[in-house]
Amino acid sequence: MSKKSYERPYIQKLNTGTMNKFGTKTEYAPVTAIEGVPVKKLIADYGSPVFVISERQIRKTYHEAVRAFKTRYPKVQFAWSYKTNYLNAVCNIFHQEGSWAEVVSMYEYQKAIQNGVPGKKIIFNGPDKSIEDLSIAVDNESLIHIDHLDELYLLVELLENKKKKARVAIRVNMDTGIYPMWDRFGFNYENGQAWNAINKIMSHPELMELVGLHCHIGTYMLSANAYSVAAWKLSDLAMNIQLRYEKTISYLDLGGGFASANTLKGSYLQGSDIIPSVDDYAEAITSTLLNFGFKQENLPTLILETGRAMIDDAAHLLGSVIAIKRLSDGRRSIVMDFGVNILFTAFWYNHKISPAQEFSHHVEDMVVYGPLCMNIDCVRESVTLPLLNRGDNVVVHRVGAYNMTQWMQFITMRPKVVLIDMDGKTHIIRENETLDTINQMEKMPKHLKSINL
Ligand SMILES: *Cc1c(COP(=O)(O)O)cnc(C)c1O
Repeated sequence: MSKKSYERPYIQKLNTGTMNKFGTKTEYAPVTAIEGVPVKKLIADYGSPVFVISERQIRKTYHEAVRAFKTRYPKVQFAWSYKTNYLNAVCNIFHQEGSWAEVVSMYEYQKAIQNGVPGKKIIFNGPDKSIEDLSIAVDNESLIHIDHLDELYLLVELLENKKKKARVAIRVNMDTGIYPMWDRFGFNYENGQAWNAINKIMSHPELMELVGLHCHIGTYMLSANAYSVAAWKLSDLAMNIQLRYEKTISYLDLGGGFASANTLKGSYLQGSDIIPSVDDYAEAITSTLLNFGFKQENLPTLILETGRAMIDDAAHLLGSVIAIKRLSDGRRSIVMDFGVNILFTAFWYNHKISPAQEFSHHVEDMVVYGPLCMNIDCVRESVTLPLLNRGDNVVVHRVGAYNMTQWMQFITMRPKVVLIDMDGKTHIIRENETLDTINQMEKMPKHLKSINL
């Protein structure tokens, strides 16, 4: 008799909703309207799927964040992180509120300029800046955040032939107690790279002025304390620059990374139950700066580039059920008309999904798939939902960050984005793509123009 083959043990997730004394848990109440506009009307007017953004919610979240920081610290400036959501209408809501622009490419830089942001109020981050990009940024007096030595050398080379001085900062990476460390961007604090870069910059006083220090320590940070560590390390560099060069650093930019209330995959608790509040982040940062020991007149301006936490709540994705089917293991599944192509964040979040119409009390654990012919197109691996029928609508919550920039035009086309303004009026802020939109960019070589099947 042959030996049985070994199979390694594995842990299998139970596909049931969490039980409690009230029965199977369901947090789902129907969501029939967004900002007072019926979901059915939005879908009838703009199609399905459709992204819907609330201007009121953006302004409200922004006001709360500004208040948390400005009541604790005298000099605060927000800069909108373009890559989080760079629809021009969204950017301009933040700019109307007083946010500068934080960009990480020339594409985003040009968008900010076209939106009317003065060059001086653009923070140019990122590892990829060409000599042409740097030249434009210097001419516009933008804040150039240097990422690596090659960029610094390129800038020195450029400035030797320019009449203009550059306003620069360096991005600093550091150990804040959160791992893995984001050390691929900027200069390391602990090993002396950051100080080395500072000395190199200070050795060219005729070419550039070191005006700030920057860090962006991670994203969806669940620890407010990490920001306290980051604020301390940037302050330490600023103080040493003061001591050695008698040069006052005018701002410390603590970047972004505040968590939104979305729930990360694998998280036992709901995101909204575990994330620090904006007040927690503000307290960690501002108390560190205030207690560090700067002279009152040298207190740096605090810049924040928070993205995700500012916009996630303000957007919903509305969609429709295409089909319902049983999987071979007996589980129920539903196929929606949106997938990871437009809901990119489904890869790392368990997005909350609410039915958009009344439903019966029976609920069942199910898998929610998107419409793509691609196995990984799964929106929720396991979610307790009432039984939905073909044509029923759902509302996906907290989709404002990174979906409308990272979405992909794969198999199908991207849908409309609609803004609901302060008066409840709706506006299309991005049209849906059509076959023409995409064909416009393609070219057919002459010899391939005709086919004869
Ligand atoms: C992406 C990014 C941000 C915004 O990050 P969030 O996690 O969305 O807050 C801020 N600054 C820099 C440099 C970034 O790359």
